[in-house]
Formats: sequence, C-alpha cells, structure tokens
Amino acid sequence: MTAPGPGNDESETSTKRLPPPRSLDVVVVDDELGSRRAIDRAVRFLGHSTRLAESGEHALRLLAEQRPHVVIADWEMPGMTGPELCKLARELRVSPDEARYTYFILLTGHDDHEHMLEGMEAGADDFQRKPFDLAELEARLLAAARVVAHHEELVVEAAKLRRESRRHYVDAHTDALTGIRNRRALDDDLAQLFARATRYDHRYAIAICDIDHFKAYNDALGHLAGDQALCRVAEVLETTVRSSDAVYRFGGEEFVVLFPEQSLDQATLAMDRVRVAVEQLAIPGPSGVLTVSAGVAEVAPGQDRGAAEWLARADAALYGAKADGRNRVEAMPVEV
Ligand code: GH3
Ligand code: MG
Ligand code: MG
Ligand code: MG
Repeated sequence: MTAPGPGNDESETSTKRLPPPRSLDVVVVDDELGSRRAIDRAVRFLGHSTRLAESGEHALRLLAEQRPHVVIADWEMPGMTGPELCKLARELRVSPDEARYTYFILLTGHDDHEHMLEGMEAGADDFQRKPFDLAELEARLLAAARVVAHHEELVVEAAKLRRESRRHYVDAHTDALTGIRNRRALDDDLAQLFARATRYDHRYAIAICDIDHFKAYNDALGHLAGDQALCRVAEVLETTVRSSDAVYRFGGEEFVVLFPEQSLDQATLAMDRVRVAVEQLAIPGPSGVLTVSAGVAEVAPGQDRGAAEWLARADAALYGAKADGRNRVEAMPVEV
C-alpha cells in the first residue's frame, strides 16, 4: 500500500493546499504498524494532529484521556474489532457540557452492504476504503470537521439555554423589591411541603408575618421609605430564622415563613425572635417604632384538607394578634 503524503514523491504533496478549516485531534487505531504510520502521515499532512493506538483497548484509553474529534479505526484487529471499539466509544460517559462529538471512521477492505450496515449500527459515521486514497480521506475529514463544529455549536447553545432557563426560573420565583422568594415560590413549596407533612405525619409549621400600621407609615414617610422598611424587615426574617426555614414575601407587607420539621412552639419562638429583632431595628414611624405581628399554625394531618387551610389557620392566628394589640405573635393550636 502506498499512502501519498510527505516524503512520497509521486503524490500530490507538492500541490499547494488551502489550510483545512480547523485542525482536528484524530486518534488512529490500527494493529499493523505500516498501515498505522501511513494514515498518521496522511492525517498530519492534511493539517491535523494524531494520537496512535495499536489496539481497540489502547484507543479506549486515549479516548478516556481526551475525547478526540475523530477516530479512524481499522476493522480487523485482534482483541477488539473496529465496530466493537466504536460501540464502546459511543457508550463512554460525557458531561452534558462536553462540547465534543467523536466522528468515527471505519477503515475497511469490506465494502459490501452487510458490513456497512454493521458498522453504521455500531455507531460509525463513515467508512474509508483500505488501502486509502488521500483525496478521499481529505473529503471525509472535511465532513468530520463540519459535523464536529455543528455539534460544538449545539452544545454551546444548549448550555446557554439551560443557563437562561435557570435564570428565568430564579427571576420568576424571586420578589423584585426584597430579593427573597415570592408568592409563586411559596405556592410551589407549600404544596410540596404539605404533601410531605401529611404523608409522613411530620410536624411542620407555617407563619404569616405582617407589618403593623404600615399604611400609616407609608402615608407619613412616603412610599420609598416604606419600600426600604420592607427590605429591612425581609432581611431580619432571613437572618433570624434557621437556614432550613424558608422566607417568602406573600404580598404587600406580608411575609410567610415555612418551618419544616418544627413544632408549633418552636416556630412561635422563632417568630417572636423576629418580632423582637424588628422592634430593635427601631425604625421610627408616625406612632413609635415599626413593629410586626405574626400568626403561626402547625400542619394538622387529617384536619387540614389542603395547604390553603393550613395557611388560613396561620392567618386566623395573625388576625388574633392584630386584634390583641399588634406587636405580638399568636399561635393557632390544632383542635383535638
Ligand atoms: P395592620 O396593622 O392592620 O396590618 O395595618 P396596615 O396599615 O399595615 O394594613 P393595611 O392592609 O391597611 O395596609 C397595608 C399597606 O401596606 C398598604 C400599602 O400602603 C402598604 N404596602 C403594600 N405593599 C407595599 C409596597 O410594596 N411598598 C410600600 N411602600 N408599601 C406597601
Ligand atoms: Mg487490522
Ligand atoms: Mg396586611
Ligand atoms: Mg399590616
């Protein structure tokens, strides 16, 4: 077999060629040294880099080290055939962000339909007749470069879409003013938590917290000062409860806290710490410092027919706290 290439005078090596569109990382697998060298020379002559393997097993190690753009594999090899190697190469795990598709070319003396089908079924992209022709190999590597580039674009695009969709999700679940979770996030989480609480009979608590006389505060100090006060209360909530508890802006000047795995008493104590911390901010209002009231309820498996009922009992407790003079936390015990 004579492979045209550098050092082979009767070939087209003296013709000036345009540079290839890109340099590919090509793994060449052939058990015969002469054949391996000839392909290696030709591929490098076409402007690509090569890594050489003398068996399928060896090639798999090279593929695991770094996924090549192209594999050119001999069909007949002791141990592992080209199609067997191709099948295993296709099964190698890649991360979703790995921007590399390996274009697989099988070198073969067989060009009957049965063999072609077998190679394609093993995952090959193309065939190269052996002994090979440089122009044919060049054409195949051009196709390979195009497929590899398209795949890279797709992977980059898919990663961008994943990032954007993640950002949209976060935006849609975040309150624009305070930066904490919003009502939509609460709706999602509440339904899940309620289902878990009733299924496993766990003690989960919920609290609704509302700023006292906030209308009067806004009227006296203006909407901007009101917004700033809302942010400070949100911050107190976030920093006072445990990190496993979740704080949401329910709407207006109302916040909700979910307390997974906590009893009514524990959640009531936590909300009282919030109440004290807000009072200690000493935000001056039209009639003394800004304060909050809260209502707490524990999930009552078998009684609450849904998350809305659970929330409604916390709201009833809040109503009681307001009626009893504000700047208070009241709990709604489960009726037995
Ligand atoms: P209570 O003690 O009974 O809760 O009285 P309140 O005045 O706080 O309750 P009310 O529901 O009458 O008024 C709530 C006020 O909260 C009305 C509105 O001015 C204010 N508010 C709601 N959302 C916002 C907001 O995003 N920014 C500002 N600055 N104010 C808001
Ligand atoms: Mg062979
Ligand atoms: Mg309110
Ligand atoms: Mg209020």
